[in-house]
Amino acid sequence: MAKDKGKSGEKSSPIDTLYNQMEKARPYLDISDDHFLKLKKPKRSLIVSVPVRMDDGRIRIFDGYRVQFNMARGPTKGGVRYHPDVNLSEITALAGWMTWKTALMNLPYGGAKGGVSVDPEALSPGELERLTRRYITEIAPIIGPERDIPAPDVGTNEQVMAWAMDTYSILAGYSIPGVVTGKPILVGGSHGRLEATGRGVAFAISLAAQKMGLDLQETTVALQGFGNVGAVASMILHLEEGCKIVGVTDRHGGIYNDKGLDVCKMNAFVKDGGYVHEFGEGDALTNEELFSLPVDVLVPAALEGVIDEGNVDNIDCKILAEGANGPASLAAESYLQDKGVFVLPDIFCNAGGVIVSYFEWVQGIQMYFWSKQEIREKARQIMASTFKEILAKSKELGLDNDLRTAAMVISMERVYQVHKLRGLYP
Ligand code: NAD
Repeated sequence: MAKDKGKSGEKSSPIDTLYNQMEKARPYLDISDDHFLKLKKPKRSLIVSVPVRMDDGRIRIFDGYRVQFNMARGPTKGGVRYHPDVNLSEITALAGWMTWKTALMNLPYGGAKGGVSVDPEALSPGELERLTRRYITEIAPIIGPERDIPAPDVGTNEQVMAWAMDTYSILAGYSIPGVVTGKPILVGGSHGRLEATGRGVAFAISLAAQKMGLDLQETTVALQGFGNVGAVASMILHLEEGCKIVGVTDRHGGIYNDKGLDVCKMNAFVKDGGYVHEFGEGDALTNEELFSLPVDVLVPAALEGVIDEGNVDNIDCKILAEGANGPASLAAESYLQDKGVFVLPDIFCNAGGVIVSYFEWVQGIQMYFWSKQEIREKARQIMASTFKEILAKSKELGLDNDLRTAAMVISMERVYQVHKLRGLYP
Protein backbone atom coordinates (compact mmCIF):
# COMPACT_ATOMS: atom_id res chain seq x y z
CA MET A 1 0.00 0.00 0.00
CA ALA A 2 1.30 3.40 -0.90
CA LYS A 3 2.40 5.93 1.67
CA ASP A 4 0.89 9.42 1.42
CA LYS A 5 -0.76 9.62 -1.99
CA GLY A 6 -3.09 12.48 -1.08
CA LYS A 7 -6.13 13.05 1.07
CA SER A 8 -8.40 10.05 1.01
CA GLY A 9 -11.44 10.37 -1.22
CA GLU A 10 -10.63 13.92 -2.35
CA LYS A 11 -9.53 14.83 -5.83
CA SER A 12 -6.90 17.56 -5.87
CA SER A 13 -8.08 20.52 -7.98
CA PRO A 14 -5.54 22.28 -10.24
CA ILE A 15 -5.41 25.29 -7.92
CA ASP A 16 -4.78 23.02 -4.90
CA THR A 17 -1.97 21.34 -6.83
CA LEU A 18 -0.41 24.69 -7.76
CA TYR A 19 -0.56 25.99 -4.18
CA ASN A 20 0.72 22.68 -2.75
CA GLN A 21 3.72 22.89 -5.09
CA MET A 22 4.38 26.47 -3.95
CA GLU A 23 4.09 25.52 -0.28
CA LYS A 24 6.54 22.67 -0.78
CA ALA A 25 9.10 25.05 -2.33
CA ARG A 26 8.58 27.77 0.25
CA PRO A 27 10.96 26.49 2.99
CA TYR A 28 13.82 26.78 0.50
CA LEU A 29 13.16 30.52 0.05
CA ASP A 30 13.98 33.19 2.57
CA ILE A 31 10.60 34.88 2.28
CA SER A 32 8.12 36.54 4.65
CA ASP A 33 4.44 35.53 4.87
CA ASP A 34 3.44 38.81 3.21
CA HIS A 35 5.73 38.33 0.25
CA PHE A 36 4.71 34.70 -0.14
CA LEU A 37 1.06 35.77 -0.24
CA LYS A 38 1.96 38.27 -2.95
CA LEU A 39 3.40 35.40 -5.03
CA LYS A 40 0.22 33.36 -4.53
CA LYS A 41 -2.38 36.01 -5.39
CA PRO A 42 -3.49 36.29 -9.01
CA LYS A 43 -2.94 39.90 -10.12
CA ARG A 44 -5.94 40.37 -12.40
CA SER A 45 -8.89 38.12 -13.30
CA LEU A 46 -11.47 38.97 -15.94
CA ILE A 47 -14.74 37.09 -16.43
CA VAL A 48 -16.65 37.81 -19.62
CA SER A 49 -19.85 36.57 -21.15
CA VAL A 50 -19.50 35.63 -24.80
CA PRO A 51 -22.77 35.74 -26.76
CA VAL A 52 -22.64 33.85 -30.03
CA ARG A 53 -25.22 33.59 -32.80
CA MET A 54 -25.46 29.89 -33.61
CA ASP A 55 -26.11 28.53 -37.09
CA ASP A 56 -29.77 27.86 -36.21
CA GLY A 57 -30.31 31.56 -35.43
CA ARG A 58 -30.41 31.17 -31.63
CA ILE A 59 -28.05 33.06 -29.33
CA ARG A 60 -25.97 31.08 -26.82
CA ILE A 61 -23.94 32.71 -24.07
CA PHE A 62 -20.61 31.15 -23.11
CA ASP A 63 -18.46 31.99 -20.08
CA GLY A 64 -14.97 33.26 -20.87
CA TYR A 65 -11.98 34.09 -18.70
CA ARG A 66 -8.54 35.70 -18.80
CA VAL A 67 -6.34 35.60 -15.71
CA GLN A 68 -3.04 37.50 -15.48
CA PHE A 69 -1.42 35.79 -12.53
CA ASN A 70 1.82 37.75 -12.21
CA MET A 71 3.25 40.51 -14.42
CA ALA A 72 6.27 41.57 -12.37
CA ARG A 73 8.80 40.28 -14.91
CA GLY A 74 7.12 41.56 -18.09
CA PRO A 75 4.03 41.23 -20.25
CA THR A 76 1.97 38.19 -19.37
CA LYS A 77 1.94 35.14 -21.64
CA GLY A 78 -0.33 32.13 -21.79
CA GLY A 79 -2.65 30.05 -23.92
CA VAL A 80 -6.38 30.11 -24.59
CA ARG A 81 -8.30 26.93 -23.86
CA TYR A 82 -11.68 25.90 -25.31
CA HIS A 83 -13.04 23.01 -23.25
CA PRO A 84 -16.36 22.33 -21.48
CA ASP A 85 -14.66 22.10 -18.05
CA VAL A 86 -12.96 25.51 -18.22
CA ASN A 87 -13.67 27.62 -15.12
CA LEU A 88 -12.04 30.51 -13.26
CA SER A 89 -10.22 28.31 -10.76
CA GLU A 90 -8.69 26.10 -13.46
CA ILE A 91 -7.63 29.10 -15.56
CA THR A 92 -6.07 30.71 -12.46
CA ALA A 93 -4.00 27.59 -11.79
CA LEU A 94 -2.88 27.42 -15.43
CA ALA A 95 -1.93 31.12 -15.30
CA GLY A 96 0.09 30.39 -12.16
CA TRP A 97 1.99 27.58 -13.90
CA MET A 98 2.70 29.95 -16.81
CA THR A 99 4.23 32.40 -14.31
CA TRP A 100 6.58 29.75 -12.93
CA LYS A 101 7.35 28.39 -16.41
CA THR A 102 8.36 31.74 -17.93
CA ALA A 103 10.43 32.55 -14.83
CA LEU A 104 12.12 29.13 -14.89
CA MET A 105 13.08 29.54 -18.56
CA ASN A 106 14.14 33.13 -17.78
CA LEU A 107 11.91 34.62 -20.48
CA PRO A 108 10.95 38.29 -19.96
CA TYR A 109 7.31 37.47 -19.24
CA GLY A 110 4.77 37.02 -16.52
CA GLY A 111 2.10 34.32 -16.67
CA ALA A 112 -1.51 34.33 -17.87
CA LYS A 113 -4.14 31.98 -19.22
CA GLY A 114 -7.57 32.31 -20.80
CA GLY A 115 -10.38 30.13 -21.94
CA VAL A 116 -14.01 29.63 -22.79
CA SER A 117 -16.25 26.96 -21.33
CA VAL A 118 -17.32 25.33 -24.59
CA ASP A 119 -16.93 22.07 -26.48
CA PRO A 120 -15.26 23.21 -29.72
CA GLU A 121 -15.96 19.84 -31.37
CA ALA A 122 -19.68 20.63 -31.11
CA LEU A 123 -19.38 23.96 -32.99
CA SER A 124 -19.44 24.54 -36.76
CA PRO A 125 -16.43 26.41 -38.21
CA GLY A 126 -18.57 29.56 -38.45
CA GLU A 127 -19.68 29.29 -34.81
CA LEU A 128 -16.07 28.73 -33.71
CA GLU A 129 -14.96 31.84 -35.58
CA ARG A 130 -17.78 34.01 -34.14
CA LEU A 131 -17.04 32.70 -30.62
CA THR A 132 -13.34 33.52 -31.02
CA ARG A 133 -13.94 37.00 -32.40
CA ARG A 134 -16.36 37.88 -29.59
CA TYR A 135 -14.15 36.40 -26.85
CA ILE A 136 -11.11 38.36 -28.12
CA THR A 137 -13.22 41.54 -28.33
CA GLU A 138 -14.31 41.04 -24.71
CA ILE A 139 -10.75 40.57 -23.40
CA ALA A 140 -9.21 43.16 -25.79
CA PRO A 141 -8.95 45.86 -23.08
CA ILE A 142 -6.38 43.80 -21.17
CA ILE A 143 -4.36 42.09 -23.92
CA GLY A 144 -1.81 43.43 -26.44
CA PRO A 145 1.79 42.85 -27.52
CA GLU A 146 3.11 44.82 -24.55
CA ARG A 147 0.48 43.66 -22.06
CA ASP A 148 -0.60 40.06 -22.44
CA ILE A 149 -0.03 37.75 -25.39
CA PRO A 150 -2.36 34.73 -25.85
CA ALA A 151 -1.38 31.52 -27.69
CA PRO A 152 -3.00 28.15 -28.49
CA ASP A 153 -3.85 25.57 -25.81
CA VAL A 154 -6.31 22.68 -25.61
CA GLY A 155 -9.09 23.09 -28.18
CA THR A 156 -7.50 26.07 -30.00
CA ASN A 157 -5.04 26.13 -32.90
CA GLU A 158 -3.30 28.29 -35.51
CA GLN A 159 -6.59 29.19 -37.21
CA VAL A 160 -8.08 30.40 -33.92
CA MET A 161 -4.96 32.54 -33.39
CA ALA A 162 -5.31 34.00 -36.92
CA TRP A 163 -8.91 35.05 -36.10
CA ALA A 164 -7.73 36.44 -32.75
CA MET A 165 -4.99 38.50 -34.42
CA ASP A 166 -7.42 39.73 -37.09
CA THR A 167 -10.08 40.74 -34.55
CA TYR A 168 -7.63 42.65 -32.34
CA SER A 169 -6.15 44.36 -35.43
CA ILE A 170 -9.55 45.39 -36.76
CA LEU A 171 -10.44 46.94 -33.40
CA ALA A 172 -7.20 48.96 -33.53
CA GLY A 173 -7.39 49.84 -37.22
CA TYR A 174 -4.05 48.34 -38.26
CA SER A 175 -2.32 44.93 -38.23
CA ILE A 176 -0.88 43.91 -34.88
CA PRO A 177 0.61 40.43 -35.34
CA GLY A 178 2.40 40.55 -31.97
CA VAL A 179 -0.88 40.29 -30.02
CA VAL A 180 -0.85 36.48 -30.20
CA THR A 181 1.70 33.75 -30.87
CA GLY A 182 1.11 30.35 -32.45
CA LYS A 183 -0.19 32.09 -35.59
CA PRO A 184 0.16 30.61 -39.09
CA ILE A 185 3.50 31.58 -40.68
CA LEU A 186 1.69 33.59 -43.38
CA VAL A 187 0.32 36.04 -40.79
CA GLY A 188 3.56 36.52 -38.85
CA GLY A 189 3.96 33.14 -37.16
CA SER A 190 7.32 31.54 -36.53
CA HIS A 191 8.95 28.52 -38.08
CA GLY A 192 8.96 25.72 -35.56
CA ARG A 193 6.13 27.04 -33.31
CA LEU A 194 3.60 24.38 -34.30
CA GLU A 195 5.97 21.57 -33.33
CA ALA A 196 7.67 23.43 -30.46
CA THR A 197 5.93 22.01 -27.39
CA GLY A 198 6.02 18.39 -28.62
CA ARG A 199 9.61 18.74 -29.77
CA GLY A 200 10.52 20.19 -26.37
CA VAL A 201 8.81 17.27 -24.59
CA ALA A 202 10.80 14.80 -26.72
CA PHE A 203 14.04 16.70 -26.02
CA ALA A 204 13.31 16.77 -22.26
CA ILE A 205 12.80 12.99 -22.37
CA SER A 206 16.14 12.55 -24.18
CA LEU A 207 17.87 14.65 -21.49
CA ALA A 208 16.31 12.51 -18.75
CA ALA A 209 17.18 9.28 -20.55
CA GLN A 210 20.80 10.41 -20.93
CA LYS A 211 20.95 11.17 -17.22
CA MET A 212 19.49 7.77 -16.35
CA GLY A 213 21.58 5.83 -18.89
CA LEU A 214 18.47 4.70 -20.79
CA ASP A 215 18.87 3.88 -24.47
CA LEU A 216 15.89 5.50 -26.20
CA GLN A 217 16.16 3.00 -29.08
CA GLU A 218 15.14 0.31 -26.57
CA THR A 219 12.42 2.39 -24.95
CA THR A 220 8.64 1.97 -24.89
CA VAL A 221 6.36 5.00 -24.61
CA ALA A 222 2.66 5.58 -23.86
CA LEU A 223 0.90 8.92 -24.29
CA GLN A 224 -2.41 10.38 -23.20
CA GLY A 225 -3.57 13.05 -25.65
CA PHE A 226 -2.85 13.07 -29.36
CA GLY A 227 -3.21 16.77 -30.12
CA ASN A 228 -0.58 19.41 -30.72
CA VAL A 229 1.65 18.20 -27.88
CA GLY A 230 1.08 14.43 -27.80
CA ALA A 231 1.07 13.78 -31.56
CA VAL A 232 4.21 15.81 -32.25
CA ALA A 233 6.09 14.38 -29.25
CA SER A 234 5.20 10.82 -30.27
CA MET A 235 6.31 11.32 -33.88
CA ILE A 236 9.65 12.87 -32.88
CA LEU A 237 10.29 10.18 -30.25
CA HIS A 238 9.53 7.52 -32.86
CA LEU A 239 11.22 8.97 -35.95
CA GLU A 240 14.22 10.78 -34.44
CA GLU A 241 14.90 8.87 -31.22
CA GLY A 242 13.82 5.36 -32.24
CA CYS A 243 11.34 4.84 -29.37
CA LYS A 244 8.51 2.32 -29.68
CA ILE A 245 5.13 3.99 -29.07
CA VAL A 246 2.92 1.25 -27.66
CA GLY A 247 -0.16 3.09 -26.33
CA VAL A 248 -2.02 6.29 -27.25
CA THR A 249 -5.38 7.68 -26.10
CA ASP A 250 -7.46 10.77 -26.79
CA ARG A 251 -10.69 11.96 -25.13
CA HIS A 252 -12.64 9.10 -26.76
CA GLY A 253 -10.27 6.25 -25.81
CA GLY A 254 -7.30 4.74 -27.61
CA ILE A 255 -5.27 1.77 -28.78
CA TYR A 256 -2.41 -0.44 -27.66
CA ASN A 257 0.07 -2.38 -29.77
CA ASP A 258 3.10 -4.01 -28.14
CA LYS A 259 4.86 -4.14 -31.54
CA GLY A 260 4.63 -0.35 -31.80
CA LEU A 261 2.15 2.01 -33.43
CA ASP A 262 2.75 3.88 -36.67
CA VAL A 263 2.13 7.29 -35.10
CA CYS A 264 2.80 9.22 -38.33
CA LYS A 265 0.03 7.29 -40.07
CA MET A 266 -2.15 7.79 -36.97
CA ASN A 267 -1.48 11.53 -37.09
CA ALA A 268 -2.62 11.72 -40.73
CA PHE A 269 -5.72 9.68 -39.77
CA VAL A 270 -6.55 12.06 -36.88
CA LYS A 271 -5.89 15.16 -39.02
CA ASP A 272 -8.47 13.75 -41.46
CA GLY A 273 -11.07 13.80 -38.67
CA GLY A 274 -10.60 10.32 -37.15
CA TYR A 275 -10.23 9.46 -33.48
CA VAL A 276 -7.32 7.45 -32.09
CA HIS A 277 -9.49 4.45 -31.08
CA GLU A 278 -10.79 4.19 -34.66
CA PHE A 279 -7.26 3.88 -36.11
CA GLY A 280 -7.50 0.12 -36.02
CA GLU A 281 -3.92 -1.14 -35.81
CA GLY A 282 -4.00 -2.36 -32.22
CA ASP A 283 -6.23 -3.40 -29.32
CA ALA A 284 -8.73 -1.08 -27.62
CA LEU A 285 -7.27 0.86 -24.68
CA THR A 286 -9.14 3.07 -22.21
CA ASN A 287 -7.68 6.17 -20.58
CA GLU A 288 -7.66 4.30 -17.24
CA GLU A 289 -5.77 1.37 -18.75
CA LEU A 290 -3.18 3.69 -20.29
CA PHE A 291 -2.02 4.65 -16.80
CA SER A 292 -1.38 0.98 -15.90
CA LEU A 293 0.75 0.06 -18.89
CA PRO A 294 4.27 -1.10 -18.04
CA VAL A 295 6.34 1.32 -20.15
CA ASP A 296 9.64 3.14 -19.86
CA VAL A 297 8.17 6.57 -20.55
CA LEU A 298 4.66 7.79 -19.75
CA VAL A 299 3.56 11.12 -21.24
CA PRO A 300 0.32 12.70 -20.03
CA ALA A 301 -0.37 15.28 -22.77
CA ALA A 302 -4.07 16.08 -22.33
CA LEU A 303 -5.52 17.64 -19.18
CA GLU A 304 -4.56 18.32 -15.57
CA GLY A 305 -5.37 16.10 -12.58
CA VAL A 306 -5.22 12.75 -14.38
CA ILE A 307 -2.76 11.14 -11.92
CA ASP A 308 -3.85 11.06 -8.31
CA GLU A 309 -4.32 8.71 -5.40
CA GLY A 310 -6.85 6.70 -7.40
CA ASN A 311 -4.36 5.47 -9.99
CA VAL A 312 -0.83 6.36 -8.89
CA ASP A 313 -0.22 2.84 -7.54
CA ASN A 314 -0.85 1.43 -11.03
CA ILE A 315 1.74 3.59 -12.74
CA ASP A 316 4.68 1.54 -13.96
CA CYS A 317 7.23 3.74 -15.77
CA LYS A 318 10.79 5.02 -15.39
CA ILE A 319 10.19 8.54 -16.71
CA LEU A 320 7.00 10.55 -16.27
CA ALA A 321 7.18 13.39 -18.79
CA GLU A 322 4.53 16.01 -17.99
CA GLY A 323 3.52 17.25 -21.43
CA ALA A 324 0.21 18.51 -20.00
CA ASN A 325 0.08 21.24 -17.38
CA GLY A 326 -0.61 19.94 -13.88
CA PRO A 327 -1.28 16.29 -14.81
CA ALA A 328 -0.39 14.94 -11.34
CA SER A 329 -1.39 15.99 -7.84
CA LEU A 330 1.59 16.94 -5.69
CA ALA A 331 1.09 13.90 -3.46
CA ALA A 332 0.99 11.54 -6.45
CA GLU A 333 4.05 13.18 -7.98
CA SER A 334 6.00 12.94 -4.70
CA TYR A 335 4.95 9.30 -4.33
CA LEU A 336 6.33 8.49 -7.79
CA GLN A 337 9.57 10.38 -7.07
CA ASP A 338 9.97 8.37 -3.86
CA LYS A 339 9.55 5.18 -5.90
CA GLY A 340 12.43 6.33 -8.14
CA VAL A 341 10.41 7.53 -11.13
CA PHE A 342 12.19 10.42 -12.86
CA VAL A 343 9.49 13.11 -13.08
CA LEU A 344 10.03 15.84 -15.67
CA PRO A 345 7.85 18.64 -14.23
CA ASP A 346 5.44 20.41 -16.59
CA ILE A 347 6.99 23.86 -16.12
CA PHE A 348 10.18 22.47 -17.67
CA CYS A 349 8.94 19.58 -19.82
CA ASN A 350 6.39 21.47 -21.93
CA ALA A 351 8.23 24.83 -22.00
CA GLY A 352 9.33 24.40 -25.65
CA GLY A 353 6.06 26.05 -26.69
CA VAL A 354 6.49 29.26 -24.73
CA ILE A 355 10.18 29.47 -25.69
CA VAL A 356 9.31 29.47 -29.39
CA SER A 357 6.33 31.76 -28.71
CA TYR A 358 8.87 34.16 -27.24
CA PHE A 359 10.94 33.84 -30.45
CA GLU A 360 7.78 34.51 -32.50
CA TRP A 361 7.06 37.64 -30.46
CA VAL A 362 10.66 38.90 -30.78
CA GLN A 363 10.69 38.22 -34.55
CA GLY A 364 7.34 40.05 -34.88
CA ILE A 365 8.65 43.11 -33.04
CA GLN A 366 11.83 43.20 -35.16
CA MET A 367 10.03 42.19 -38.38
CA TYR A 368 13.03 39.96 -39.00
CA PHE A 369 12.48 36.21 -39.22
CA TRP A 370 14.75 33.31 -38.37
CA SER A 371 15.12 29.88 -40.00
CA LYS A 372 13.63 26.70 -38.55
CA GLN A 373 17.15 25.45 -37.80
CA GLU A 374 18.01 28.61 -35.82
CA ILE A 375 14.76 28.32 -33.87
CA ARG A 376 15.31 24.64 -33.03
CA GLU A 377 18.90 25.23 -31.97
CA LYS A 378 18.12 28.25 -29.77
CA ALA A 379 15.21 26.40 -28.11
CA ARG A 380 17.40 23.35 -27.41
CA GLN A 381 20.07 25.56 -25.84
CA ILE A 382 17.57 27.14 -23.45
CA MET A 383 16.08 23.77 -22.46
CA ALA A 384 19.48 22.08 -22.03
CA SER A 385 20.89 24.86 -19.87
CA THR A 386 17.71 25.05 -17.76
CA PHE A 387 17.84 21.28 -17.21
CA LYS A 388 21.40 21.63 -15.88
CA GLU A 389 20.30 24.51 -13.67
CA ILE A 390 17.41 22.48 -12.17
CA LEU A 391 19.69 19.49 -11.52
CA ALA A 392 22.27 21.75 -9.84
CA LYS A 393 19.57 23.37 -7.67
CA SER A 394 18.15 19.99 -6.61
CA LYS A 395 21.67 18.88 -5.66
CA GLU A 396 22.39 22.12 -3.79
CA LEU A 397 19.16 21.83 -1.76
CA GLY A 398 19.40 18.09 -1.18
CA LEU A 399 16.20 17.55 -3.16
CA ASP A 400 17.05 14.14 -4.51
CA ASN A 401 14.96 13.23 -7.54
CA ASP A 402 12.62 16.18 -6.89
CA LEU A 403 13.10 18.35 -9.95
CA ARG A 404 9.66 19.90 -9.44
CA THR A 405 10.54 21.57 -6.16
CA ALA A 406 13.99 22.61 -7.40
CA ALA A 407 12.38 24.20 -10.47
CA MET A 408 9.73 25.96 -8.35
CA VAL A 409 12.43 27.36 -6.05
CA ILE A 410 14.32 28.83 -9.04
CA SER A 411 11.14 30.40 -10.46
CA MET A 412 9.67 31.72 -7.22
CA GLU A 413 13.04 33.18 -6.21
CA ARG A 414 13.26 35.05 -9.55
CA VAL A 415 9.80 36.58 -9.22
CA TYR A 416 10.31 37.38 -5.53
CA GLN A 417 13.59 39.22 -6.28
CA VAL A 418 11.77 41.33 -8.89
CA HIS A 419 9.00 42.12 -6.39
CA LYS A 420 11.65 43.31 -3.94
CA LEU A 421 13.53 45.41 -6.51
CA ARG A 422 10.40 47.03 -7.90
CA GLY A 423 9.04 47.71 -4.41
CA LEU A 424 5.43 48.35 -3.48
CA TYR A 425 3.37 51.11 -5.07
CA PRO A 426 2.43 53.62 -3.68
P1 NAD B 1 -4.97 19.76 -28.12
O1 NAD B 1 -6.34 20.31 -28.03
O2 NAD B 1 -4.21 19.94 -29.37
O3 NAD B 1 -5.01 18.19 -27.80
C1 NAD B 1 -5.56 17.71 -26.60
C2 NAD B 1 -5.60 16.20 -26.68
O4 NAD B 1 -6.06 15.73 -25.41
C3 NAD B 1 -6.57 15.66 -27.72
O5 NAD B 1 -6.05 14.48 -28.29
C4 NAD B 1 -7.82 15.34 -26.90
O6 NAD B 1 -8.65 14.35 -27.47
C5 NAD B 1 -7.17 14.87 -25.62
N1 NAD B 1 -8.09 14.97 -24.47
C6 NAD B 1 -8.92 15.98 -24.15
N2 NAD B 1 -9.65 15.65 -23.07
C7 NAD B 1 -9.25 14.41 -22.71
C8 NAD B 1 -9.64 13.51 -21.69
N3 NAD B 1 -10.60 13.84 -20.81
N4 NAD B 1 -9.04 12.30 -21.63
C9 NAD B 1 -8.07 11.96 -22.53
N5 NAD B 1 -7.66 12.76 -23.51
C10 NAD B 1 -8.25 13.96 -23.60
O7 NAD B 1 -4.16 20.36 -26.86
P2 NAD B 1 -2.59 20.50 -26.71
O8 NAD B 1 -2.21 21.85 -27.19
O9 NAD B 1 -1.93 19.30 -27.24
O10 NAD B 1 -2.45 20.55 -25.11
C11 NAD B 1 -2.33 19.36 -24.32
C12 NAD B 1 -1.74 19.73 -22.96
O11 NAD B 1 -0.47 20.36 -23.15
C13 NAD B 1 -2.55 20.71 -22.11
O12 NAD B 1 -2.37 20.42 -20.75
C14 NAD B 1 -1.90 22.05 -22.43
O13 NAD B 1 -2.11 23.01 -21.41
C15 NAD B 1 -0.45 21.62 -22.49
N6 NAD B 1 0.42 22.53 -23.23
C16 NAD B 1 0.15 22.87 -24.52
C17 NAD B 1 1.02 23.73 -25.20
C18 NAD B 1 0.84 24.09 -26.65
O14 NAD B 1 1.74 24.74 -27.19
N7 NAD B 1 -0.21 23.70 -27.30
C19 NAD B 1 2.14 24.26 -24.52
C20 NAD B 1 2.38 23.87 -23.21
C21 NAD B 1 1.52 23.00 -22.58
